[in-house]
Parts: sequence; C-alpha cells; structure tokens
Amino acid sequence: LSGAFRENQSHFKLVLLCTAVSGGGLLAYGESVAPEEAITEKKKVVVLGTGWASTSFLKNLNNPKYDVQVVSPRNYFAFTPLLPSVTCGTVEARSIVEPIRNIFKKKKVDVQFSEAECFKIDAENRKVYCRSSLNNNLNGQEEFVVDYDYLIIAVGANVNTFNTPGVMENCHFLKEVEDAQKIRRTVIDCFERANLPDVSEDEKKRILHFAIVGGGPTGVEFAASLHDFVNEDLVRLYPGIKDLVKITLLEAADHILGMFDKRITVFAEDKFRRDGIDVKTGSMVVKVSEKEISTKELKNGGETKTIPYGMAVWSTGIGTRPFIKDFMTQIGQASRRAVATDEWLRVEGCNNVYALGDCATINQRKVTEDIAAIFKKADKNNSGTLTVKEFQEVMKDISERYPQVELYLKNKQMRNIADLLKEAKGDDKKESIELNIEELKTALSNVDSQMKFLPATAQVASQQGTYLATCFNRMEECEKNPEGPLRFRGEGRHRFKPFRYKHLGQFAPLGGEQTAAQLPGDWVSIGHSSQWLWYSVYASKQVSWRTKALVVSDWTRRFIFGRDSSSI
Ligand code: FAD
Repeated sequence: LSGAFRENQSHFKLVLLCTAVSGGGLLAYGESVAPEEAITEKKKVVVLGTGWASTSFLKNLNNPKYDVQVVSPRNYFAFTPLLPSVTCGTVEARSIVEPIRNIFKKKKVDVQFSEAECFKIDAENRKVYCRSSLNNNLNGQEEFVVDYDYLIIAVGANVNTFNTPGVMENCHFLKEVEDAQKIRRTVIDCFERANLPDVSEDEKKRILHFAIVGGGPTGVEFAASLHDFVNEDLVRLYPGIKDLVKITLLEAADHILGMFDKRITVFAEDKFRRDGIDVKTGSMVVKVSEKEISTKELKNGGETKTIPYGMAVWSTGIGTRPFIKDFMTQIGQASRRAVATDEWLRVEGCNNVYALGDCATINQRKVTEDIAAIFKKADKNNSGTLTVKEFQEVMKDISERYPQVELYLKNKQMRNIADLLKEAKGDDKKESIELNIEELKTALSNVDSQMKFLPATAQVASQQGTYLATCFNRMEECEKNPEGPLRFRGEGRHRFKPFRYKHLGQFAPLGGEQTAAQLPGDWVSIGHSSQWLWYSVYASKQVSWRTKALVVSDWTRRFIFGRDSSSI
C-alpha cells in the first residue's frame, strides 16, 4: 500500500489511519499531509499509567516530534518485584520508587504529567476523561478531558477476588507500595496484639496465624519473606509467643508455583514443609470472614473447613479494571478479560490506540491459527503423521516465530503438543509422530480466547514498552517510506516488525537466602548461588542509580542490623 494524497480544497489535511489489512496488518494511509505541515505539527500522545510498560515506553521514546501527556494516579514508578521485600522491611518502600518526573526530566521529548486517573476512554472522538485524585486542585474542577492523536493504555490490572465473599473486606493485597507498607504494619501489630496481657492462648494462636491465599510466585515469595522475618528477627523480640506463630499457604491447584519447572515446584514444597510453612494444596478458599477462612478441600470430595486466622493476604491473580471493561464493551471486546491487540500492540477495533502490559493481550486466535497452519504445511501428504525430524523442524519454526511458545505449551489445553514434543525429544528410536491434525486444530482453537497469551509480568510489560517506543521513534521515517523496508515489500508485511517477547527467565525466592531460577533452555538452578544471581539482576534492573544505591544499602543494612520491627 502506498500513502495516497487526497486534495482537500487548497491544502492537505493529515489523518493517519492505522488499519489492519489482511492478516499481515499493514498500516494504511487514508489521507495524507503537506510535508511542511507534517514537520511542524506535533502529534499528541497520551500515555495512561506510570508502571512497567509506560515507564519503559517513556524512557525509550526519543523522537521530539511528539507532545506526550502522561496520566496516572501515581506520580512514581514502583519496582514491583521487590514489593514482597517491603512487606517485611528487608527493603524500604522509598528505595523501590522513582518519581516519574525524574525519569523524563532530561528527555528531548516534551512530556507533561497529570496526577489523575482515567475513568473513560472515548475512542471514537479520541478523548480520555480523567479525574484528579487530589482535592481542590483545578479550581475545584476534579474532572478534565484530554484529546489525543495516539493513546497508549498501560494501566495494569486489578486484584482478582473471583467474587469470593469477604475477600475485599478482610484480606490484604500485594499490588501497590501502600499494600506492602500496610502488610508490614499489620504483621507487627499482630505480634503486639498477641503479646498483650489477658489474651487467651487460643486467641494468641489465631492472631499469629498468617494465611496466604495463592501459591503463585507472589504468594510463595511473600510466605518465604514472612517466614524469614518471623524467624530471623521477630522471634528474638517476642520470645514468649514465638512457638505460636503459624504460616499457611493455601492453593487450589495440586501444586504451588505451577508455572515453574517441576523440579522447582517439588523443591519449594519440600523446603516450605521443612521450614514449617503449612502448604495446603487442593484447598480452594470460598469465603473469608473477619476471623475465619472457609475452604473447600478439592481432594477430599469437596469437604468444607474453617481456619481461624489473624492476617490474610490474597494473591490469586489479576482482573480487569472497571473502566477498561467499559472501554472493551465500547469496542466489541466485552467477552474478553484483557484488551486484545494485534502483534503490533494496536487495539483491535479502534484506530491509533495501543495497549500493553497487564491490561492487554495479543490476540491468541491468530496465533493458534498460524501454528495450526504450520503443522498442516509440514504434513505434505495429508497423512496425519510427521517424522520425528519433521516434527522437530515444525517446533523449531514455531519457536522462532513465537519465542514464547514454551510458556504457551504450559497451558493445559496445549498439553497434547507438549507431550508430543517431549516424545520427539526423548525417544531417538521413534521414527514418526502420530499427529491428528484435526484434533490438534480443535485443541488449538479451543484454547480459551480469554486467556492472556503472554504472562502478566514486568518482563513482558517493559519489553512491550521498549518495542512501542522504537516504533514511535521511527514512525515519521516510516511515513515517508510507507511500504517499509525493501525486504518486506510484496509480502503483505507491516512496516514494523511485530512484537516478539524474549523470555529471559524467572525467579522464585524461597527464603533462607535460597532462590529458584528458571532460565531459557530449561536451565534450572536452585540455592544460594541463585540468590546472588537474584540480587545482581534486581539491583541492575533498578530504574535509576539512586534506587540502585538505596536497594543495595537496604540489603547491606539488613545483613548487618536485621530488619526493623517498629510499626510505623
Ligand atoms: P503496572 O506496573 O501495574 O502499572 C499500571 C499503572 O497504571 C500504574 O502506574 C497505575 O497507577 C496506573 N493506573 C491504574 N489505573 C489507572 C487509571 N485509571 N488511569 C491512569 N493510570 C492508571 N513481574 C516480573 O516480571 N517479575 C517479578 O518478579 C514480579 N514480581 C511481582 C511481585 C508483585 C508483588 C507484583 C504485584 C507483581 C510482580 N510482577 C513481577 C508483575 C509485574 O509487576 C506486572 O506484570 C507489571 O507491573 C505490569 O506492568 P504494567 O505497566 O502493565 O502495569
């Protein structure tokens, strides 16, 4: 496609249309512009959020041809992977946050920030409606409207309670810095309360029972941090009640850390049992009251149990923010759980709107269809059988196109491919792999279209932010050369390469200076050496030299003096 100039009386008017055309998704130009106008007129980019995705976008954007307006209720970036360390005072809250203005103050790009939350997106009229979270500003007007040429939605996600009664009212969450600070105070308050005179033994036990719901990476890391805090610091200060402390980790699935390699899962469960952390798998929380948690024991025919607790932390995954739900309804995506984009992160169903990070998902259906087509192509004579070599070639092809496929294969509905792959890898004597292409296609298309294709991690969000900034930096160059680089011409390809996630591995800190690390290529390492790797990675990933220095000095302080147990 080429840019078409349409005369509009005596001058040209710029209207840039981002239109997905035929699978490949080429950008099309509806109307174009007189070149001098294009050079002088700055495009208004509105960025919602100051989290991982938006901060990495802002850090990497260096084209001064944009006017950027950032809107977020938080005027800082928070390094979320260290939130569990904040809950126990290993790291101070201020050490993991960086004012957003510090991040863009030296940039060539014109960036403005408004501390407010967006409550409505009007994609048709290119407006976002915002509400200031500060009182009495804007001369009493708390709401304002911002126009945009491009909108970047990076507002993250909400906690997900699965509508379980009593969770909102009685549980703590671990999403924001304030949550971590609140947890830290509550843990210490529980110890002080249990230490008051005239508290019965049973009541002390209840107060000192810490329940964590959700055996994912956050729940597990928090359980491990709490165990260290209690055993390394608090028991020395509260010797009379130390034996009454109990930590329970409740998980509905059969294992904790389900998304990690089996070796890590087994190690973590064994370590927690040795440490005295009660890991209850197959235990689904159905209700939380002020002092008790009710569970349904999935392994014991659905038997219901009640567990008295002093503090509960809910960490079971993420949900959609209400205004994002409204926006999705507006653009015909009401049945989804995250905003669907194409592989260029453009929101499907509207123009010039991009979504990234936890609030977005790359449309999976296209990916599954693509994978099915690769299998079909490999089965040249339609026999439903591939030789092991052919099968391995196919998987290599898929991995190259979709580096995240290994993660994708962890999805239960894709297990048949994963099993086939294991067979192909493990049995050299096997000459062919029985492959029912139709069954495979059905399995692929049955993959829940509501699931997020990429994991909801900082790693994904920040890579997406960097990718989008690169596209925006080159937007003008590409407008002048709309058919894209020579190698793309005639292929129906987009002028930018699609976003490709590069998985760099994941950590699961397990307490006692031990961490499990799962790195690309099925490389697993567990123990003290991985803990040092964790320290170095997380120190190096800090957003500024200031936070790097603060975090490292907090770790050193903790090694020398222990954690602070005052309840401020
Ligand atoms: P966020 O970083 O959540 O940012 C969302 C932004 O949007 C915030 O600034 C928020 O204030 C703003 N916002 C919210 N509502 C509005 C609104 N209405 N209008 C405007 N702005 C709004 N990932 C890893 O890769 N490794 C880890 O070790 C890891 N550990 C984690 C530990 C914890 C405790 C938690 C909670 C998460 C962890 N994650 C980790 C996940 C990671 O933090 C998220 O995947 C990541 O933050 C997603 O980035 P995001 O930019 O989409 O959203």
